[in-house]
Amino acid sequence: STQVQLVSRPKGWPTPEDFRTVQVELPELGAGEVRVRNEFVSVDPYMRGRMSDAKSYVAPYALGETMTGGAVGRVTESTAEALPVGTLVLHGLGWRDVAQGPADQFRQVAEIPGAPSSVHLGILGMIGLTAYVGLTEIAHLQAGETVFVSGAAGAVGTAVGQIARLLGAGRVVGSAGSAEKVDLLTSRYGYDAAVNYKDAPIREQLPAIVPDGVDVFFDNVGGDHLEAAIDVFNTNGRAALCGAISGYNDVERPAGPNNLWHLVSKKLTLRGFIVGDHAHVAAEFGEKMAGWFAEGKVVFDETVVDGIENSVEAFLTMMRGGNTGKMVVRV
Ligand code: NDP
Repeated sequence: STQVQLVSRPKGWPTPEDFRTVQVELPELGAGEVRVRNEFVSVDPYMRGRMSDAKSYVAPYALGETMTGGAVGRVTESTAEALPVGTLVLHGLGWRDVAQGPADQFRQVAEIPGAPSSVHLGILGMIGLTAYVGLTEIAHLQAGETVFVSGAAGAVGTAVGQIARLLGAGRVVGSAGSAEKVDLLTSRYGYDAAVNYKDAPIREQLPAIVPDGVDVFFDNVGGDHLEAAIDVFNTNGRAALCGAISGYNDVERPAGPNNLWHLVSKKLTLRGFIVGDHAHVAAEFGEKMAGWFAEGKVVFDETVVDGIENSVEAFLTMMRGGNTGKMVVRV
């Protein structure tokens, strides 16, 4: 099996030298085990946090061990009755072309007609659930409200815009880092208006696209974007704080929003969340999203990098904004 391992903890931006690609000899299957040929492997922003040893909600990656994370593949050998050869499975064993282990580490997922199996790493999986939980359980989106999404053209962001629409949001606006992405937000992902945060500070650009203010902010970016949202929030506005990718590679502590007084004056609620704590919503979400998907009410795009040995490059490209929709590695 070809596997990619973390060998040193990056300071600032990770480099290829922080990783190595190794060949691992796999043992014969034991009782109740499966061997899985991965089709797609996920690269996600949270992995940057796990490369550091700072205390967090999830343990750091161990040095010299294969990078774990979401992956989807097909069973090619099995001694487990529940997962016969050919079964499509989702698992967390990460950056390797072949995964193997006890059947309970693998979960069967549905074959979705017309969609690649990577849809289970994206809008039908953890990414879609994150968008749904943030809008419903965290921000309590109400019909007719205005929603602002940062990081809007990424995996979570493209899901948030479309789900907000389907849940009856009034106006949905977003920000992203290129003119192409801004075009796609309005032409493809259900956004009413969008801005490129690289054209001018987001704080200067946002007011023009939310003339009636913002009720719900779904934040993937943090920093300047959170500050801009606080400026334009309506009274009783709610923020679902999903991520703060603008600071993930910072060595210095980033500048904080300087307008927190408005948490008081506008009676705002800012609430962070981790999707893993909301597994109880997965069934409800899965049913709704499968329906929307089958009816053609949501689109799912991804940026694909080929070859497990290119996982690091895929990860770094995603962190730099080289993806639209979900970034995945095709094995
Ligand atoms: P994306 O597909 O959105 O990829 C990351 C994107 O971040 C890039 O494409 C880039 O787009 C943008 N970006 C990078 N640097 C900056 C910056 N300095 N300022 C603004 N945007 C930047 O990744 P995901 O959809 O997987 O994740 C989005 C966010 O959600 C992340 O913050 C992640 O940590 C978080 N997350 C949180 C979860 C939770 O449970 N709380 C679960 C899943 C994700 P651009 O070209 O627009 O700059």
